[in-house]
Amino acid sequence: MYELIIIGAGPAGISMAAEARSVGIPSEQILVLEKGPMHSWAIRKFYPAKKVVLANYKGIEAVCKGVLCISDMSKDETLTYIDRAIEQYQINVHYDEAVNAIRPLPGVGFVVETSQARYETRRCVIAIGILDKPNKPNYRIPAALNKRVHYDLNSAELQNRDCLVVGGGDTASEYCQYLVERGNRVTLSYRRTDFSRLNSINYQSLMALEQRGQVAILRGSNIKELQEEQTSGAPADAQNTNNRVVVLFEEAAFPPRNFDHIIYALGGTTPTNFLKSADISFDGDLPVIKEGYETSVPGLYLIGDLSAGRKGGSINLAFNMAQEAMRNICNQCECASR
Ligand SMILES: Cc1cc2nc3c(=O)[nH]c(=O)nc-3n(C[C@H](O)[C@H](O)[C@H](O)COP(=O)(O)OP(=O)(O)OC[C@H]3O[C@@H](n4cnc5c(N)ncnc54)[C@H](O)[C@@H]3O)c2cc1C
Repeated sequence: MYELIIIGAGPAGISMAAEARSVGIPSEQILVLEKGPMHSWAIRKFYPAKKVVLANYKGIEAVCKGVLCISDMSKDETLTYIDRAIEQYQINVHYDEAVNAIRPLPGVGFVVETSQARYETRRCVIAIGILDKPNKPNYRIPAALNKRVHYDLNSAELQNRDCLVVGGGDTASEYCQYLVERGNRVTLSYRRTDFSRLNSINYQSLMALEQRGQVAILRGSNIKELQEEQTSGAPADAQNTNNRVVVLFEEAAFPPRNFDHIIYALGGTTPTNFLKSADISFDGDLPVIKEGYETSVPGLYLIGDLSAGRKGGSINLAFNMAQEAMRNICNQCECASR
């Protein structure tokens, strides 16, 4: 029986374990379960290599409340900072162990079922973020284009190609910046005409790229279909071709265009079924969160991007949520320190 099982070893999960250690819960009573082969798997997968990780991301002021806090730093420095936290607080993480279900054990706690084992815990913290299931467009993507359509930047080596980025948030802007640096010819398709969701750095960077002619922005453009480019003499078996992508737009102002790669930056989704299977109540499409990030199920907490709402989260916000969740747990029981 663990005191605390934390699901997800991203910024929220690791800081939750660090907070628990800092109030005196012994290392062997805390277990972090991570689906990926390393901590912060979503950051490794979705952040461009040379990205500057902003402490005030999305305008969320970086006033740190807990034991972890980042200032502006590189992607590598951020990962090293989390490596050190794992070492310093002696956090026990099981990698490559995805949690499939959490079942309440009335009067005792929870059973956590993974791909490999079954654990019991008094309290459970879900910190799995929203990037595990990136949003996908609502039109069909032909199977023959699978190698040319991406939902992150690290699943393919993109250099000196014609790339279309789809989206209008910070991620889309950062993807454009990264792709331009790698010598790609970049077009951005955004369904709106203003970029009101961007932070000022990403807004200015994107506008500068447009002014320099390094990114072509198709404002107010909506993609209706992707097709495989037909080259003369192409084999009939579409599954085996590696043709470019033809993008068709709803608006007549945007004629069809051909690209080597399409990169969607449309954000992530709440893993609703996973949360509902743990009996967590929902208010519309968002989980009900009470004081200290406790869900409608006593002893079951939800922190990080999952609790950040529609505006989205940040690393320091995830750290602060962990501190508040730990304080809530301490208020309900006796913590050794603090
Ligand atoms: C491109 C991009 C740029 C960003 N830039 C910044 C920035 O500059 N500054 C900033 O503060 N924030 C930035 N953010 C936001 C920031 O990355 C998130 O707010 C933060 O990572 C949220 O942390 P989290 O722990 O809640 O979730 P995540 O970082 O998504 O971590 C969740 C972890 O849970 C694991 N997991 C998922 N499902 C399971 C399962 N079933 N079982 C076990 N483990 C599971 C995942 O593998 C992952 O390791 C950016 C986001 C993106 C996409």
